[in-house]
Amino acid sequence: MVSAALSAAVSVGLSVVVVASIAAPAVSSPGDQPPPAEAAPLRVAVTVPPQAWLVERLGGKDVEVVTVIGPGFSHETYQPSDREASAVLSCALYVRTGLSVENGPWFRAIERSPNVRIIDGRAGIAQRTLETPSELEEHGPPGSAGEHGTRDHDHPPAPGHAVGDHSACDHGGPDPHIWLSPVLLKQQAATIAHALSAARPDLANDVADRLRRVERELDALDTELRARLAPYAGRSILVFHPAWGYFTDAYGLKQIAIESEGRLPSDREVTTLQETARALGIRTLFVEPQIGGKAAQSLAKAIGAKVVVLDPMARDVPTNLRLVAEKIAESLQ
Ligand SMILES: [Zn+2]
Repeated sequence: MVSAALSAAVSVGLSVVVVASIAAPAVSSPGDQPPPAEAAPLRVAVTVPPQAWLVERLGGKDVEVVTVIGPGFSHETYQPSDREASAVLSCALYVRTGLSVENGPWFRAIERSPNVRIIDGRAGIAQRTLETPSELEEHGPPGSAGEHGTRDHDHPPAPGHAVGDHSACDHGGPDPHIWLSPVLLKQQAATIAHALSAARPDLANDVADRLRRVERELDALDTELRARLAPYAGRSILVFHPAWGYFTDAYGLKQIAIESEGRLPSDREVTTLQETARALGIRTLFVEPQIGGKAAQSLAKAIGAKVVVLDPMARDVPTNLRLVAEKIAESLQ
């Protein structure tokens, strides 16, 4: 059964390639077989744009992707409107990441819907633990630890986070940013491909072909990023929001996060940060376009670092992760 499906996959894949390269526009000649009845694309919802990239790579023209959090929005605080939630309800599949947005009341309706099958993008992934403030303080001088008791009272909320919204950014819990490492994306590709084929068995052969292609693409990307960052193994980068842990783990780096539990550091912690940055030779603070803003700018000034933007929400994964590697490498030169 499996081998029959695989050989069918090869022949279907080849015929698609030939048709596509010879007759890209929809041109037909009298001898052509009638095209198969066009099924409506499979509607698949995802939480963040890089997952949309992955689903499209796997589903091609056979899928229509609904992205819950657009590229301009914070992946930590976004709450979909009723209209956006209804768009998700019209999907056959939802690929979740474990972000806190998936704990909102709107998601209960998705979970209750008999029409939407929820696929866990975390399947098969050993999640790392999100950085905690104590890890930051490990880098600081003696005596800088043990201030957690006052943390909730003397910290202003970080931009991109609601006041008192500690669940938004579950520090110390499993790191949800699983879409920022090529190796983890490869694991998610297998999970999503399986779900697409289960939902639409008629697409299984095409999806299997596309899965092999995207696996090769992600392997090549991983090799390239590994080579680019190898000279900086063991170095630390300073980030405003701890989105890059899977990326830094994969390439032998360490991320130190400024923001803790959605809150900015106290004056005392800023002093610790200044000392940490000096001790580790850190001259760059990486921020996200959606989280940080002016607060990040003034913190960077306080610790004598330059602000550089890394975007965890960019849809085009290979282009974005290459750019991320480039900016990190430049900052560590
Ligand atoms: Zn995040």
